[in-house]
Amino acid sequence: MSYKVLARKYRPQSFEDVIGQEHITRTLRNAVESKRIAHGFLFSGMRGVGKTTMARILAKALNCEKGPTVSPCNICSHCTEITQGNSIDVIEIDGASNTGVDDIRELRENVLYAPASARYKIYIIDEVHMLSKSAFNALLKTLEEPPPHVIFVFATTDPHKVPVTIQSRCQCFHFRSIPVQKITEALLRIAEQEGFAIDQESARLIARASEGSMRDAQSLLDQILSFCGDKITVADIKLVLGIIDPEVLDECSIGLIEQDAERVLNLVEKLNSLGVDLVEFCRELQLYFRNLLMIKILKSPKTVIHIEGEEIDKLRPISESVEEGRLLAFIEYLNKTEEELRRSAHPRTILEVALVKMTRIQPLQEFKEILGTLEALEQKFHGGDLSGGRPPAQNPAVKKTGSAGSVPEQGHQSGKEAPAPFDWEKIVNHANTVNPLIGSILEHGFLEKAEPHKMVIGFKKKIHYDMAKGKEQKINEIIKGRMQGGFALTFCLQNGAETGKKTLTEKKEDLKREKKNELLQEHLGNHVVQEALRIFKGQVQDVRDFGADH
Ligand SMILES: [Zn+2]
Repeated sequence: MSYKVLARKYRPQSFEDVIGQEHITRTLRNAVESKRIAHGFLFSGMRGVGKTTMARILAKALNCEKGPTVSPCNICSHCTEITQGNSIDVIEIDGASNTGVDDIRELRENVLYAPASARYKIYIIDEVHMLSKSAFNALLKTLEEPPPHVIFVFATTDPHKVPVTIQSRCQCFHFRSIPVQKITEALLRIAEQEGFAIDQESARLIARASEGSMRDAQSLLDQILSFCGDKITVADIKLVLGIIDPEVLDECSIGLIEQDAERVLNLVEKLNSLGVDLVEFCRELQLYFRNLLMIKILKSPKTVIHIEGEEIDKLRPISESVEEGRLLAFIEYLNKTEEELRRSAHPRTILEVALVKMTRIQPLQEFKEILGTLEALEQKFHGGDLSGGRPPAQNPAVKKTGSAGSVPEQGHQSGKEAPAPFDWEKIVNHANTVNPLIGSILEHGFLEKAEPHKMVIGFKKKIHYDMAKGKEQKINEIIKGRMQGGFALTFCLQNGAETGKKTLTEKKEDLKREKKNELLQEHLGNHVVQEALRIFKGQVQDVRDFGADH
């Protein structure tokens, strides 16, 4: 006996058998019972939720020799012919391949003839939204004045593409996607009847993967059965579904670690025959080796690898059986391979070559020894360094002390006192941020004298000296606030000619002049500039950098 696919074998033959569409079966049964049958039905919903199945059951309910009945007998010639899809009076049309107006014109002519033997002539048009516009128009004319013996059942996954004029002449039913739980139960029932073993979790995995489509679930089950026989395991299902099972990764990694190329290649064959995405597999394997590496290196790897403690315990012995050096090499190889797989037209070969190469990586037994030596050296180095006495960290001399006006503490260094590094520019910058007015005064000053307990600020112009004198207390507060150790602050009026000391303002001007000079030198040689000078008999007075400042 030839094998009948599950979806066909377990196709519901009566209203009661249809799963997950109770809202529709009830209405249809009522219609059949009360003999109020519409001439047009529109069944919409995603694929595999029972639209054409329901259409056939409706056809049987109407055409059964014992009918019209809500419980067609399924044994009379009409019923069996409908089940087999060869009833003369129940015509199934695939809208996707009969989209033209000619097809519909032919249909319109045939519609006029009475049914050959059954009560009704029933047209089931699947994927009706695929019909052309003119075909829809032709169909509409029939729907507007349907012969009493004709019933149309339209099925579509895309009701929005069905013209409203058609929809309005039909009784519309929307088929729901079937809940995971209901599909799971259905699969378990099938297993029981077929006599194979499948556990709840496996059935649930299949149900979830089929996303609400019973037909998809049944096809998947077929696929899985043909792969693993009568005993279905979660691992097999994951393999078929492309969910890469940890056990497959275990097997592959053990093959690589034990340098068993044959084992690894057989695994690739298995993956390939199942249509597992090899890029995905490569990435998963990479992650797997990363986990092994983390388990090897870290005392508590759980925080880094996000897998269950149980999983870690399972991976630990594998991790211990391979050296760190090879793990690193594996990860590197896989990383490279993943990229190559994405680009290659022959991903299988790429993966095979990479895996075989990985089995050829020699375990470096001496690696740990080298590491040990390095560690010993490092310890020795550290030990010597410490005994030699590392110079203690310098206490930063510039540091905020207590509030202004308080008596500053002595420097922390006992014995000799470290000279305070008076960086005038920093002091002025600080003043500028704390009090811009004081800052602008100090910019015209320079550090005339800087000793541990004495600071003299010189001003070259009387106006600035006077301004500083006027703000003496404020300046004291700001500067002392930055200094460690007590000192006296005084001002003096001095042109700085003997010492050549410069105020910040002067320094800034110097810098500006210098830049200008550079700019001048840079552009004086320019032939356009020279030509201009020649024509206008001029001289260069000034040079400005418009690029930077304007
Ligand atoms: Zn029957």
